[in-house]
Amino acid sequence: MFKVHDIRKDFPILSRKVNGKPLVYFDNAATSQTPQQVIDVIVDYYSNYNANIHRGVHTLSQEATDLYEQARQKIQAHFNAKFSHEIILTSGTTHSINLVANGFSSILKKDDEIIVSALEHHSNIVPWQMLCERTGATLKVIPMNQEGELVMTEYDNLLSEKTKLVFVNHISNALGTINPIESIIEKAHKIGAAVLIDGAQSCPHIKPDVQKLDVDFYVASAHKMCGPTGVGMLYGKEEWLNKLPPYQGGGEMIAEVTFEKTTYAALPHKFEAGTPNICGGIAFGAAIDYMNTIGFDVIASYEHDLLDYATKKLLEIDGLKIYGTSKNKTSVISFNLKGIHPYDVGTILDKLGIAVRTGHHCAQPIMDYFKIPGTVRASFSFYNTKSEIDILVEGVKKAKMMLS
Ligand code: PMP
Repeated sequence: MFKVHDIRKDFPILSRKVNGKPLVYFDNAATSQTPQQVIDVIVDYYSNYNANIHRGVHTLSQEATDLYEQARQKIQAHFNAKFSHEIILTSGTTHSINLVANGFSSILKKDDEIIVSALEHHSNIVPWQMLCERTGATLKVIPMNQEGELVMTEYDNLLSEKTKLVFVNHISNALGTINPIESIIEKAHKIGAAVLIDGAQSCPHIKPDVQKLDVDFYVASAHKMCGPTGVGMLYGKEEWLNKLPPYQGGGEMIAEVTFEKTTYAALPHKFEAGTPNICGGIAFGAAIDYMNTIGFDVIASYEHDLLDYATKKLLEIDGLKIYGTSKNKTSVISFNLKGIHPYDVGTILDKLGIAVRTGHHCAQPIMDYFKIPGTVRASFSFYNTKSEIDILVEGVKKAKMMLS
């Protein structure tokens, strides 16, 4: 039985007040909160193990290295990668995508095409546009419909022998739509294209199996799944990671350096130049442990309940429109009040202690599609409650009254 009030006790921040009111944290799609179990690991690291890894013979360095490598193995097990060296620790999803996009500079040719979707975060658009500028390749876009779903028949039309790579998010951060990635991957592979899935928004809700998906690259950020900021991962199939050139040069990523020639380290170190976010990597592993203790099935079904409840309650407010109405969506509600700027709604909600996100959510093409400047986005996590949703609904009603 899921006991949300016990779970909430794991999160010290949830008992603080904001503007004199109990915090209602509904900005989980931007970053999730951190449980005490993860905070303890961070404190423990700096209290007992702080040392640079991989190159020290002394005890602290070896202990820190062991903890860091254990974290990599936890990430490997969680995403079900075949080998731990297929997990590259990065500073987050953005870094992971840039790493792959940079690698494709030496693979793409002028007439090649790469495919993105209309539902992407800027992190999964801009690095590829830069890649097209470097290589002369062309970026094609899978369009979306009014429900905020991808138009899959158009995807079929875009695929051709020119297509080399497809990159879409598993879940849209702006609308919460869960994309049909199984079919996207399968169709891309049929014509020999590789696929990268941006899992920044799926990692808090879904436990993906990268081998079952047969995906070539899968990327995620720790801070979306109860871990710290500034750390994330890139899963890449071994054959792909061997094919791609290193992203950054520096210490740790070399086999041998002379002024004539440098040879590179084996995976995963080839892509991990410099001192990494050691504590962050270890805490990422702890966050994965924490979430698995609760269980992703339990999390998904509880959050779905929250989503249904909030959708119903919010739609009772006259003049409120929800963007992203797919049946296949996660616990994100993007909405606007007729004639009122989302920023104004967000500001009033903040005065009531309610944290939501307002604006374009780094997904301007989606806002352009709906012809709006942005939305108010409330995104729920497993530590939120229906009574918090009631507070949100009352807050939105109040905002509407004050701003109309
Ligand atoms: N893609 C998606 C779908 C996201 O939601 C985010 C974070 N908002 C990112 C990429 C970028 O993640 P990060 O800022 O952790 O690199």
